[in-house]
Amino acid sequence: MTDKIQERMTKFYSGDDRSVTINAVQGHFATSNSHINYYIDVTRLKVRAKEAENAAASLRSKLLHQVEDVDTIVCLDGTEVLGGFLAQELEKGSFHMTNKHDTMYIITPEENSIHQFMFRQNNRLAIEGKNVLILAATLTTGETMKRMMECVSYYGGRVSGVTSIFSTMKEVNGQRIISLFTENDLPGYTAYHPSECPFCAKKIPIEAVVNGYGYSTL
Ligand SMILES: [Zn+2]
Repeated sequence: MTDKIQERMTKFYSGDDRSVTINAVQGHFATSNSHINYYIDVTRLKVRAKEAENAAASLRSKLLHQVEDVDTIVCLDGTEVLGGFLAQELEKGSFHMTNKHDTMYIITPEENSIHQFMFRQNNRLAIEGKNVLILAATLTTGETMKRMMECVSYYGGRVSGVTSIFSTMKEVNGQRIISLFTENDLPGYTAYHPSECPFCAKKIPIEAVVNGYGYSTL
């Protein structure tokens, strides 16, 4: 079943690797912190094995010489499949690991009832004293990423890198963001503070609420 948003989606190609694509659609969308004129759909890179594998290879070449130590990949926004392929790519060499068994940890945090990220006891070994690469689907205001970075520090880990499929941020908390796509790949992409949104000013209804997992129409 397709809906109006899906019907309007256009494919955008990565400048570095034409096999890596995302979908985007123009309109009036709300995130938890902003209103945006594009909904960016990165689902294919998260749920299709071949696409995730290609994206992981592309991410590896971007991370090379930017991130040196990775023991653990923390996956946000349902990026575990991509995280698995990324670990495989990073294990090919050039990235230093302190793990005893020469393989990376791939974990995902839980969010408690007051929206704090947390790790259960059985996962803490993957964070404490480890170099952690955080992988997200999309990064627009950096608020979620800041909370994730604080969580890693809280459990005794060191954030050695932050990467995402799409990002409009160049850095968060002094940490450089390495992404496959930026707003420059989407002509005219703009994020507005909800109180300054020109669509809202013209009383144009919000089409969907969006986050790193996807969209829900109102
Ligand atoms: Zn608006």
